[in-house]
Amino acid sequence: MNTDPNNPGFSFRPTKKLGQNFLTDKTVINRILDSAALDSKDVVIEVGPGKGALTGRIATIVKNVYAIEKDNFLFGELNNKYASLSNLTLINEDALRTDFKTFEGNPKIKFIANLPYNITSPMLSRLTENRDLFSNIIIMIQKEVGDRIASEPGNKTYGSLSVLIQTFFNVTRLFTVPPGSFKPKPKVDSVVIKLVPTQTHCDLIKDINLYSRVVKSSFSSRRKMINNSLKSEFNKEEIEISLSNSEISGKRRAETMEVSEFIRLANNIYELQQSTSSDNSSF
Ligand code: SAM
Repeated sequence: MNTDPNNPGFSFRPTKKLGQNFLTDKTVINRILDSAALDSKDVVIEVGPGKGALTGRIATIVKNVYAIEKDNFLFGELNNKYASLSNLTLINEDALRTDFKTFEGNPKIKFIANLPYNITSPMLSRLTENRDLFSNIIIMIQKEVGDRIASEPGNKTYGSLSVLIQTFFNVTRLFTVPPGSFKPKPKVDSVVIKLVPTQTHCDLIKDINLYSRVVKSSFSSRRKMINNSLKSEFNKEEIEISLSNSEISGKRRAETMEVSEFIRLANNIYELQQSTSSDNSSF
C-alpha cells in the first residue's frame, strides 16, 4: 500500500477554496499520529483526508476510520488507492453537514484533522456541540487561531474563543508547523492542538446560551471595563447586582478573567433573571 505523502500516486491541482495544503513532512505526520496515541481498538474520524497523508497510516493502526472528504476528485482517487483497506470508510460530503450523532454507539471516538483554514471556526462549533462523542481531538489549524484557543488570562491573545473552548475542553498546544511542511505552501504557520472534552466547567453552567452571551459581550470592547462592555447585552441593574453577587469588580477587563469567573457571573445573571421573571409572574 502506498502511504508515502510525497508520492501520493495521483496528480491533482489543489484549490485554495477547499484549503488544500497537503502535508508532505513525514516528521509532522508521525508527530500528529503519536499525539493521538492510537491503538487497535480506536475508532477515528478524519476530516479532509486529501491525498491520504494521515489516512492510510491511521487505518493500519486502528479498528475503524471514517474519512470525510468534500472534493469529489480526491474522494474518487482515495477510493481507488485504499480499496484494500476494509476498515476505512470514505464519505464524500461537506464535513460541516455531517451528522456526527450517527457515530453514536461507538466507543469514544478520536478526531484527527489537518483542517482547511476556512472551516476552522464552524468545525470548532460542531466539535463543541458533539464533544460527548470524542475522547480526544487532534487538529492542525492556523497558528494565530491555535494561539488564541490556548491563551491564558492576561495575554493579548486571550479572548472569547479562548474562554469558550477552554470551558468545554482541556487544551494543549502541541507544536508549530512551518509552511515548508506542506504542498502547496500556506502563507502562514500552523499549529497542532489537542482538545480533550471535560465536564469540570460546563457542568456548573446553568444556561449555556446565556453564558456564551456573557463571554462574548464581555470581550465586545477589549479596552472597556467589564461593567461597560456587558451593556451591549444586559441592563445596568442586572450588571451591577450580578457583578457584586459574583464578587467581581466592574472595573476589571475581560482579558483578566478566568473561565470560572465568567461562569460565576453568568450564573448570577441567570439567578437574577429567574427571580425577576418569577416576581413578575406573580402579578
Ligand atoms: N489531510 C490531508 C493532509 O494533511 O495532507 C489534507 C489536508 S488539506 C489542509 C484539507 C482537506 O480538506 C482537503 O483535502 C480538502 O479537499 C478537504 N476539505 C475542505 N473543505 C472540506 C469540507 N467542508 N468537508 C470535508 N473536507 C473538506
